[in-house]
Amino acid sequence: MKKVIIMGTGPAGLTAAIYLARANLMPIVIEGIQPGGQLTTTTDVENFPGFPEGIDGTLLVMKMREQAGRFGARFVSGIVVKADFSGPARRLILEDDQVLEAASVIVASGARAMYLGIDSEAKLMGRGVSACATCDGALYRDVPVAVVGGGDTAMEEALFLTRFASKVSLIHRRDEFRASKIMSDRVKNHPKIEIYWDTVVNEVLDVSRNEVTGLRLQNVKTGAHSEIPVVAMFAAIGHEPNSKPFKGLLDMNEKGYLVTRHTVTNVPGVFAAGDVQDAHYRQAVTAAGSGCMAALEAERYIGSLGG
Ligand code: NAP
Repeated sequence: MKKVIIMGTGPAGLTAAIYLARANLMPIVIEGIQPGGQLTTTTDVENFPGFPEGIDGTLLVMKMREQAGRFGARFVSGIVVKADFSGPARRLILEDDQVLEAASVIVASGARAMYLGIDSEAKLMGRGVSACATCDGALYRDVPVAVVGGGDTAMEEALFLTRFASKVSLIHRRDEFRASKIMSDRVKNHPKIEIYWDTVVNEVLDVSRNEVTGLRLQNVKTGAHSEIPVVAMFAAIGHEPNSKPFKGLLDMNEKGYLVTRHTVTNVPGVFAAGDVQDAHYRQAVTAAGSGCMAALEAERYIGSLGG
């Protein structure tokens, strides 16, 4: 039986892979629909230690992958849809019915962006509706765009979009930001950004034209409706963890984040690292740190089996 499978190739999964490969445990690493994870949707990463000039997110994970490969980690592509932890082998079942099994599993499947959930938004997805300014922002040069949200992601997206757009409307449902002060202040002081406080998006226009032409807004305090012309809307309202295959098997909180104690889950031999178990910090460096912890826990577990 294989010793360990790692699900996910963001900083958590790849750090676990580096540690386990160096420990000669020959990890199998499953690469899913977004190899490299959320860092690949970022341009400059300025807060990962060791890169004083900043580093491109995709390049950073590519380097981590190369480092894991150098010590013998093996990569396979696949989408995990189910798990079976009933026997001594920890099994992951892929979309094509392939079954991967090992003594230990590290879940590092990350999280994905959430959307508002309104009908018109879904219909215009990819036609002006996006959740990734760093992926799609450059498409919108010299035109007005909007960002929805009040957290650090929304601030980052809005600031990034000012490089291209003629104007960025930032729509937030409350009268204060959740984001850190430094990011909030940058946004508030930016001449290209207009903030709509206490405001929600009721409709993305115009489904009949199959493109984004504007937003229908409502002020939640006054009830007043308005319309603004934009050609793109970026949802930046948080993330949901990729934990669905483990429903009913691994303990999770009400939002689906896996419950861990130092990466240890409720199933022996199954560990979790990175954003799938962390709704709070969600940084590349904290994900990498927890990947290291999960690897050390897995190594200890495998050792306890006599492996
Ligand atoms: P977040 O902090 O959870 O913020 C989500 C924002 O979206 C909140 O302002 C929330 O409003 C709003 N929101 C949620 N659901 C909504 C809905 N249905 N309609 C309208 N608005 C909605 O998420 P995040 O910004 O993605 O950040 C997550 C974590 O990553 C945070 O800990 C953050 O500090 C961190 N982060 C750090 C950096 C950095 O350090 N460079 C960058 C990005 C993210 P309310 O405020 O009213 O709840």
